[in-house]
Amino acid sequence: PDGNLYAALRGAFPADLDRPAIETGDGPRLVYSWRDLERASAMIANLLASLDLPAGARVAVQTEKSVEALLLYLAVLRAGFVYLPLNTAYQAAEIEYFVGNAEPSVVVCSGKNFGWVSQIAFRAGTAHVFTLNEDRTGTLLDRAAHQPAEHVPVPRHADDLAAILYTSGTTGRSKGAMLTHGNLLSNALTLKDAWGWRSDDVLIHALPIFHVHGLFVASHGALLAGARMVWFSRFDPKAVLARLPEATVFMGVPTLYVRLLGEPGLTREACANMRLFIAGSAPLLIETFREFAERSGHVILERYGMSETIMLTSNPYHAADGERRGGTVGFPLPGVGLRVQADDGSPCGTDEIGGIQVRGPNVFKGYWRMPEKTKEEFTADGWFKTGDVGKIDARGYVHIVGRSKDLVISGGYNVYPAEIEGILNEMDGVAESAVVGAPHPDFGEAVVAIVVPRPGADLDPATLVAHLKARIANFKVPKQLFVRPDLPRNAMGKVQKNVLRDEVKGLFA
Ligand code: ATP
Ligand code: MG
Repeated sequence: PDGNLYAALRGAFPADLDRPAIETGDGPRLVYSWRDLERASAMIANLLASLDLPAGARVAVQTEKSVEALLLYLAVLRAGFVYLPLNTAYQAAEIEYFVGNAEPSVVVCSGKNFGWVSQIAFRAGTAHVFTLNEDRTGTLLDRAAHQPAEHVPVPRHADDLAAILYTSGTTGRSKGAMLTHGNLLSNALTLKDAWGWRSDDVLIHALPIFHVHGLFVASHGALLAGARMVWFSRFDPKAVLARLPEATVFMGVPTLYVRLLGEPGLTREACANMRLFIAGSAPLLIETFREFAERSGHVILERYGMSETIMLTSNPYHAADGERRGGTVGFPLPGVGLRVQADDGSPCGTDEIGGIQVRGPNVFKGYWRMPEKTKEEFTADGWFKTGDVGKIDARGYVHIVGRSKDLVISGGYNVYPAEIEGILNEMDGVAESAVVGAPHPDFGEAVVAIVVPRPGADLDPATLVAHLKARIANFKVPKQLFVRPDLPRNAMGKVQKNVLRDEVKGLFA
């Protein structure tokens, strides 16, 4: 049987293709029917097919978010090529790295960037550079307009590459995770079940589509359910709230929830039609989780995943399967194997902290052109080392306590930043915090905390440290604590601890 992911998505379209599939939530109000998705992606697929690209050709895309950008993704799938989305924030030096590394045959960029992007692309040997703008202009659609609107998806094996997703680069240089049609489809089917997707769902899609969360988890979820999406090119909390009364599902990174909470319009009435709020990509603060429940009447479902594996764990959707517990990422999804291992390779018991390892049909094929790195990140018995550190509690819930690279070893003791951050975050006047290690001549590393105050709060570092001293072992107490207005974040809203580490590395030298 054909393993082309598009064929599976297409098979889930409703019988009545004239029903609305996607409506724009901002900009001019446009409605795309299921037939529009089928025909427009066919035309773009035919354009790609006409270019005589080599097998396995990469199509790299750096455009503003638009419905047409999603159609381009679907077109690449159906044409059997490899989709390679790039963060819209990336500038010349970054694009040069990604294009040089991936050697795409086709690059699609915003018209306003054509000058510099095309120069980089042609230098790297890319044969075709098209433009695609937010307002449906650009050479990609101009050229596709001349193509037939019928296209049979190119047969693919489940094991064939569908996409290369560069990781967010939170811990270092981004790596290209090679995902297959089978990886994506198996995960999408699992989530359809786990989250109870229905054809009458309406998803607010306000996430970027250059990343797992918006491109795969959100889009596949709605498409595979034959459900309608309200499509926002960017997240604007007021605009999203205006459409909430007609929606049933929302997905966001934690910062989106914080911004929604900042709106007086976030009320139980506004959320009355909602079925499910999902968070992930970074830890959801317990305060956000609680405050959101109070204000909206909905308990956020937190889940955990990454570019290399798509989704791994989820808090339960059905009450019968357990409660959604803040501060945890829930249970391993059906079909996903998850274990926690100590550094010496021995299994960790209940509540014991160690490295999280996973396996399953969702786990990627390896890092693009990094066979050594790929080998390093898999155990001898075939489990992928996520790089995250965590534990499984007595009820089976998975807790993430940080990344192995962020672990601080002070005086020979392991310090898990998340533990200290959790205590700091619950203190009066603290909005959020980050704990990192700084090289120290006596301790190897010393714990350093960076704390962000809530608006209007006046925090005294010495008082915070004194509070910590009363609560945790001395080796965990920060040797230095700084108060500053915000934390450095990447485009996915993740705290860049490498940036903070760099800033504090000279403190004890
Ligand atoms: P890089 O691998 O380049 O350093 P990255 O790991 O941030 O960047 P992604 O694949 O986008 O790149 O992010 C996956 C990571 O995000 C996970 O490994 C985990 O650390 C974090 N993450 C995802 N969901 C959650 C969650 N619910 N709670 C805590 N952390 C999460
Ligand atoms: Mg990672």
